Amino acid sequence: MKKIKNYINGSFQEPIAGDWLDNYNPSTGEIYSHIPKSTSKDVAKAYEAAKDAFVSWSNTTIEERSKILIRIADLIEANLDTLAEAEAKDNGKPLSLAKAVDIPRASANFRFFGNAITQFASEAHESVGLNTMNFTLRSPMGVVGCISPWNLPLYLFTWKVAPAIAAGNCVVAKPSEVTPMTAYLLGEILSEAGLPKGVLNIVHGTGPEAGQAIVAHPNIKAISFTGGTKTGEHIARTAAPMFKKLSLELGGKNPNIIFADCEYEKMLAVTVKSSFANQGQICLCGSRIYVEESIAKQFKKDFVAKVAALYIGNPFNSKTSIGALVSQEHLEKVESYIEIAKDEGAKILYGGERVSVKGFENGYYLQPSVIEVDDNKCRIQQEEVFGPVVTIMTFKNEEEALQLANDVKYGLSATVWTNNLDRTMRLSKQLEAGIVWVNTWLNRDLRTPFGGMKDSGVGREGGFEALRFFTEPKNVCISYNL
Ligand code: NDP
Repeated sequence: MKKIKNYINGSFQEPIAGDWLDNYNPSTGEIYSHIPKSTSKDVAKAYEAAKDAFVSWSNTTIEERSKILIRIADLIEANLDTLAEAEAKDNGKPLSLAKAVDIPRASANFRFFGNAITQFASEAHESVGLNTMNFTLRSPMGVVGCISPWNLPLYLFTWKVAPAIAAGNCVVAKPSEVTPMTAYLLGEILSEAGLPKGVLNIVHGTGPEAGQAIVAHPNIKAISFTGGTKTGEHIARTAAPMFKKLSLELGGKNPNIIFADCEYEKMLAVTVKSSFANQGQICLCGSRIYVEESIAKQFKKDFVAKVAALYIGNPFNSKTSIGALVSQEHLEKVESYIEIAKDEGAKILYGGERVSVKGFENGYYLQPSVIEVDDNKCRIQQEEVFGPVVTIMTFKNEEEALQLANDVKYGLSATVWTNNLDRTMRLSKQLEAGIVWVNTWLNRDLRTPFGGMKDSGVGREGGFEALRFFTEPKNVCISYNL
């Protein structure tokens, strides 16, 4: 059986304690590899390697750093098929999605930050009359920690590590134990691209053990984390008393607000995607649909028809739009929410049943579920399910739509479908979300700030925001004589 290993100091290493975890293929329900059950000892070893690499890496020219990052991007692109197949097998997502989105985006992350670092500049402030010149020196932090989730494994892992190393830091990173494979394969690419040893160290293992050891390590200066809100809270509690810099990208329960004046067919096609892409396991999925009363009946009919036509199958079948959920445990969690919705009196308009896929009978397949609700306070409206479950509620006017949309603890993203420009501007300002999409969804320009409000997180990633996070600003004030 395949053994995934830690990538520390430029080489693959077994866990010090010699303990391993099982890694499941969600499309078959079978164990297909073992991964290190790393402990604080492995994290300490990774930290030492990162620390030793820091002086040299932080003094490497911007051109050289940029060149290496772009080489990594090229190698990810050259290995598209292998990486996409590994991602589909490890996560259960359709291979077509991994090929079109996950792996190209992982490559784009390295290419983007390889270029962005050549343009990263700081400000200067001349205090006229006082004869002083201030400038902001931005230095890499040292050794930083990056922790990523299982839903977009290589995509989100690279979204963190690429800006961290571009800015001159060295990294101890942990991918999710549920989907470790592509981060493991990245190790080979890093060596081939000539990334100096110790600059990026990848430690596998559980969140409470290996992840916690990264967060609690006294000399790891910053933590960039993407994952659940509860885990984020725990991380903040550990890191805050140590005064670590924190970027937390957490859960979402995003509204998708549909007005009668929208471009209906486009809205319908995109709403199917924003509800169920990646089996609904994207933090940005529009899991709460609010539709204007006048078109609600037609919308429900058309939407359910489109959802019912989605092909549920194994990730490697080219017809598949809905693959397997990531794990047995997650499948059971999603099913429990469907039961909660039923208990709360919600109406199941479609789906919610397990699916047996021929030849893959033990995989974790679930029909996409469309649930009609009339109470915005019920749990299915308020809590993140993070699966193929979408709710529909109607509204009478813009004011009510806004009130319903903002009435949750989360504030990650929101989508609005309308052709009214004034309404677009009003809602863009008033929606409590870090990202507002109007007449589109998941449209990303990597230069924009990315992150959430309220319980969806603290801080922003993307563009220069990420490079600012991974650097320490220092004000230098020089007095001069004229
Ligand atoms: P988790 O919070 O369970 O895990 C995220 C990562 O943190 C994993 O690597 C996990 O390891 C690790 N971890 C768990 N416990 C600890 C700990 N005590 N200390 C340090 N690290 C820990 O999230 P999921 O993997 O289940 O991902 C789903 C969640 O991620 C959803 O809530 C989703 O909304 C959110 N998300 C947010 C995004 C955003 O940009 N805002 C984007 C994508 C997802 P292990 O896997 O071993 O448990």
